[in-house]
Amino acid sequence: MGTTPTIFNIQRFSTHDGPGIRTTVFFKGCPLRCAWCHNPESQSYAPELLVDSSRCTGCGMCVEACPEGAIALGEDGRARLDRDRCRACGECVDLCAQGCREVAGEPAAEPRELVEQLLRDRSFFERSGGGVTLSGGECLAQDEGYLAELCSRLHARGIRVAIDTCGDVPWERIERLLPDVDLWLYDIKAADDVLHRRLTGSSNMRIWDNLGHLARSGAAVRVRMPLVSPVNDDMACIDATIRLLLERVGTVPVSLLPYHAAGNGKYRRLDRVPREDFRVPADDELASIRDRFLDAGFSDVEIGG
Ligand code: SF4
Ligand code: SF4
Ligand code: SF4
Repeated sequence: MGTTPTIFNIQRFSTHDGPGIRTTVFFKGCPLRCAWCHNPESQSYAPELLVDSSRCTGCGMCVEACPEGAIALGEDGRARLDRDRCRACGECVDLCAQGCREVAGEPAAEPRELVEQLLRDRSFFERSGGGVTLSGGECLAQDEGYLAELCSRLHARGIRVAIDTCGDVPWERIERLLPDVDLWLYDIKAADDVLHRRLTGSSNMRIWDNLGHLARSGAAVRVRMPLVSPVNDDMACIDATIRLLLERVGTVPVSLLPYHAAGNGKYRRLDRVPREDFRVPADDELASIRDRFLDAGFSDVEIGG
């Protein structure tokens, strides 16, 4: 089965990651570095410590407990972390009475065990037409067979499976999952490769190639596009995206996902600086973008979801 992947969250009763009520499993690690990513703790493959210093009372308990000597009290009396020394062991987490500290990322349970855990919500899946979504980060990035076994076991128990992917992975990782995946939520950011590199740190060539392969395979695909103002919501960018979609996959279902800044606090807890220059496109802008897709022949275009 290969290396056990790392997960950082299992979210029950999700209604934003595919149809119906779903449980979403978030895998850690991503080949992209989107400037607006609202799960910055998902990007690194390794577990990471998040620290909310605003609640720190300077009690010093974590300083004493850290086996790596990675914590010291700063001039303001609050705990300061040396990230080069921290190995995210979690020793300092439970003893902090203020709940300042949290480790993101742990080895996933064996597929058989994880399936049993996910089956607890089976009745909700059945009543709502929902199921399980595998997301991230990029769930396929660290996959050496784990996901194939997980998807196959879920399918064998009658659970519908969706995969949320950025598509920047070798095609073989997508191809081997085709028999056991019911829906591909396929994220695109921009048609222009120069812009894509600027926004995400990576080329979009493989992403669009894989989307074409996926469509030709006959798989059910819903394209999802984050709309981040002022970086990819102008009509030149939208028109270029529409043209490339028509060329590669035709009028697939589309979800337009307005940017939100909900992840900014997590950047600070990781000692990273969130972008403050992005904004949510206005409602009339979103409506115009949706109309552009509808005018081009796309019939299933939703905002959000
Ligand atoms: S244990 Fe919590 S409250 Fe105490 S110094 Fe560490 S982070 Fe601050
Ligand atoms: S997670 Fe472990 S290594 Fe990191 S600061 Fe806490 S105790 Fe130290
Ligand atoms: S593809 Fe998704 S998880 Fe990866 S960096 Fe971009 S927004 Fe974050």
